[in-house]
Amino acid sequence: TRVLLTGGSGFIAAHTLDVLLKNGHSVVTTVRSQDKIDRIKKIYPDVGKDKLDFAIVPDIAVEGAFDEAVVSTPPFEVVLHTASPFHFNVTDIQKQLIDPAVIGTTGILRAIKKNAPTIKHVVITSSFAAIINPEKMAWPGHTYSEADWNPMTLDDIKGSVSLGYRASKTFAEKAAWKYVEDEKPGFTLSTVNPPMVFGPIIHQLQDLDNLNTSNQRIRDAALGKFKDEIPDSGVTLWVDVRDVAKAHVAAFEKPEAVGKRFFTTQGTYNNKQICQIIRKHFPQYKDLPTESTPGGDYGEAGPFTADNSRSIEVLGLKYIPLEQSIVDCVKSLQSVGL
Ligand code: NDP
Repeated sequence: TRVLLTGGSGFIAAHTLDVLLKNGHSVVTTVRSQDKIDRIKKIYPDVGKDKLDFAIVPDIAVEGAFDEAVVSTPPFEVVLHTASPFHFNVTDIQKQLIDPAVIGTTGILRAIKKNAPTIKHVVITSSFAAIINPEKMAWPGHTYSEADWNPMTLDDIKGSVSLGYRASKTFAEKAAWKYVEDEKPGFTLSTVNPPMVFGPIIHQLQDLDNLNTSNQRIRDAALGKFKDEIPDSGVTLWVDVRDVAKAHVAAFEKPEAVGKRFFTTQGTYNNKQICQIIRKHFPQYKDLPTESTPGGDYGEAGPFTADNSRSIEVLGLKYIPLEQSIVDCVKSLQSVGL
């Protein structure tokens, strides 16, 4: 299948590209600059232009950004849209988080309808952020599933960058389903909704400072930053990046996936467990928390409960366990100086 993958320089997209190439698909991926093209090419020196090619889209928040990228020879059949900001280094929530998420998503759907009628299916990387109820958080007695929608509105953000991120993912996913319902374009939609994504990095990372957001707590634990107190675990659901990548590809390879959201999560974790795993496998890191270090538990609300059965039944996921994910993440970060 001829696939357009957006945001190819990202943590999740790098693994998705890997699964696409392994499964024999022909991929064009969008990145923001030539420098990022060169980095990805280095990972696949033997893959020809017919299997892996590139398009530059410098800013997905610009209207019409994808108008040209959706056109190719041979024409695309599938789009995987992963590009969206996930970091908290933000001063303007609307411009830096919400606009790229929402305009990026609606922009690519419009571009497909306008310029690329051969595209029959679109998979969007949404998030547990679009499922969670931020007022209820772990919501004792409730099992989160694809049936849940984050009820946030713009007024609920109140200047909080993390709520701004959750809103950006919620508004983007809602806009995508609404577009398909209203416009009845010639393509169908699926979304992949992961919670915290951990696991090895396979993209060419410049240095540890530029690590993707969700793996930062693993880096910080190994660097000794949690020595005196382990920080609050936050949303205690997680998934390995390799499972998220497989989900994106299965979401178009399997016809039953059409029209569905997929809540891809292995289950619960907390920061204490992450520290324990690193201590067990990497004795060279001396400043790790011990059993008696405070913090890092599930917090007052207890662990989140989630139903991942749809992702297992429809996408065929077999989830990688936490221990393997953390060990593989640390090993991968050692190549960039951890
Ligand atoms: P990364 O930061 O590694 O990837 C984000 C990607 O989006 C990068 O390729 C980035 O390009 C691109 N991007 C961001 N803003 C823009 C913009 N304005 N214009 C063009 N490209 C842009 O994070 P992840 O791989 O973790 O995230 C990928 C997707 O997964 C996102 O949609 C995120 O919301 C979602 N997600 C991630 C989770 C996680 O825990 N990691 C959990 C749930 C969902 P560049 O690198 O050049 O800035």
